[in-house]
Amino acid sequence: MVTTTFAFDAALSRLTIDLGAVRDNYRRLCRELGDVPCAGVVKADGYGLGADHVAPVLYEEGCRIFFVATFDEAVALRQILPEGTIACLNGLLPGTETAYVEHGLTPVLNDLGQVALWRDHGARTGAPLAAMLHVDTGMNRLGLDGREMDRVAEDPSLLDGVDWLYVLSHLCAADDPDNPMNAQQLARFGAARARLPAGIKASFANSSGIFLGPEYHHDLARPGIALYGGRPSAGRDNPLRCPIRIDGRILQLRTVEPGWTVGYGGSWRAERESRIATVAAGYADGYLRSLSSLGRVAVGGRPCNVVGRVSMDMITVDVTDMDPADVAPGGMVEVLGPTVTPDAMADLAGTIGYELLTSLGSRYVRHYVDGAE
Ligand SMILES: *Cc1c(COP(=O)(O)O)cnc(C)c1O
Repeated sequence: MVTTTFAFDAALSRLTIDLGAVRDNYRRLCRELGDVPCAGVVKADGYGLGADHVAPVLYEEGCRIFFVATFDEAVALRQILPEGTIACLNGLLPGTETAYVEHGLTPVLNDLGQVALWRDHGARTGAPLAAMLHVDTGMNRLGLDGREMDRVAEDPSLLDGVDWLYVLSHLCAADDPDNPMNAQQLARFGAARARLPAGIKASFANSSGIFLGPEYHHDLARPGIALYGGRPSAGRDNPLRCPIRIDGRILQLRTVEPGWTVGYGGSWRAERESRIATVAAGYADGYLRSLSSLGRVAVGGRPCNVVGRVSMDMITVDVTDMDPADVAPGGMVEVLGPTVTPDAMADLAGTIGYELLTSLGSRYVRHYVDGAE
């Protein structure tokens, strides 16, 4: 029997997430790190892939420290992961101390005010509470700045009364191995650590930082995008597997005559008789409108061009040169996947894979598979 659910799904495009690729990517990063443990950054719902699916897979692979951005993300993750450290990068907002303790969450403290709040809360509960300390080394976004580090150096007792798990800092240009900021930040991190009480473990490298070499590894790495297949270094080979694939449903096929235009604004005009496939993926699904007449999809493993504007629910694709057997109404084309990778698509759109992944819409039918190699 054909159920309503099936008929409904059949009209939609499909997002397939291969948790096996995430698994393989975690193992690949662990190999690169040798004996240094590897955390998992699963903020923004696991970069759009679904933290509730990704985090348990990482846990199975031995990951015990997870980073999210917001307190709400941390609470949601705790429902899924009863064990393990869940650290919240955005810091401690006054008034949330009790809730942090209740849910067993670890704040990343970003200034001395937050340190004092956490110390005082520990004193009230009777024992120092665990936290991480973020020091700024050049991003100028979060973490103790130079003035606050001067205060700590003058009065180390400012950091008393907290159980420090790690001190961390964040690289701002690690995807470019030749950028001198990398070495500069590494030196600043070393100098900052020298001003802290001895013995606090350190965490520095994000995904790209892991590939800058062992001197960037310290005691814990914090990869995000590499778990999800993003290339660690621009312009170099990507050693990671892409876990996501979007198959877009062909809603209609038509022939347009030379001189006819396609889509809003008539911005694309056929120069020859063309076969146009209308595919169900638009900017409401995270298919960026900046890919109008720039994007590519793949049919039978061969790339072809998005022509005309990306609309809310659809793109139009020139399939004139494709094998007609590969394009039929109701069939699928590869919108994103092995041929058109997120990084390649991001390059065309003038953005980064991070933005593409975290923009994935909720309208695709999601399928999770687990095919580790
Ligand atoms: C997001 C984030 C990471 C992960 O970065 P990737 O480039 O995705 O590996 C690590 N550390 C901090 C502080 C972050 O904000």
